[in-house]
Amino acid sequence: HRSSVPVAIHLDHGASYEQVLTAIQAGFTSVMIDGSMLPFDENVAITKKVVDAAHVVGVSVEGELGTIGKTDDEAEDGTATIIYTDPEDAVRFVESTGVDSLAIAIGTCHGIYPASMKPELKLDLLQEIKKKVTLPLVLHGGSNNPDGEIGESVKLGVNKINISSDIKVAYHNKMREILADPGVREPNTIQPPSIAAMKVVAAHKIELFAAANTVELY
Ligand SMILES: [Zn+2]
Repeated sequence: HRSSVPVAIHLDHGASYEQVLTAIQAGFTSVMIDGSMLPFDENVAITKKVVDAAHVVGVSVEGELGTIGKTDDEAEDGTATIIYTDPEDAVRFVESTGVDSLAIAIGTCHGIYPASMKPELKLDLLQEIKKKVTLPLVLHGGSNNPDGEIGESVKLGVNKINISSDIKVAYHNKMREILADPGVREPNTIQPPSIAAMKVVAAHKIELFAAANTVELY
C-alpha cells in the first residue's frame, strides 16, 4: 500500500486448485498453477480449471509446460533432467487452457548452478515457441545465468523472468561480511547495508530484463 509503483502479488508455483483459490481470496492479483510434473492432459485439465475460476474474478493465470531443473537442496523444486518445452505442445496447451502467460523450459534451473554445471539456454527453441504462441513467456530459474544469455532471451521474447537466488545471495554475502566482525550485534548495523547490496543486484536485473520504467505502461 505504501509503494510508489503498482505492485502485483503473484502466487508462484501454485500446487493445487484449492491453494490457488486460497491465494485469490487472500488478495493475490495473479497466480501460477504448476502442473508441469503431470502428464500433458492432466496439466491441461488442472490449468483450465484454475483459469476458469480465476478469470471470473479478474485474476491472471500463469501455466507451465516442460520442466525447470534444480541445482541443489536450497533451491525451489525442479527435476534432475530438464524436459524442454515442445513448441507444438505449447500451442495445444495455450489453446486448450486459455492461460495468460506460459512458463517454458529452455534450459534454466532453480537456484545457483554448481561449478560443474554450465547453464546453456536453447535460444533457438525459445524463438520457435515465440513464433507459434502470442502470449507472454516466462523464464523461471533465471538466477546465475550469464547476463548475455538472459539479455538475449529478453530480446527474443521472454516477458517475465523469475529470480530469487541472485538477490538473496547478494543480501547474505553482505551480511556475512558484516558479521565477520564479532563486535557487531545491532540489526541497524547489519540489515541496512545488506538490503542496499540486494538493491544493487535488483536494479541491475531490472535493467538487464529491459523492465526499467515500465510503470509508464501501467
Ligand atoms: Zn519457478
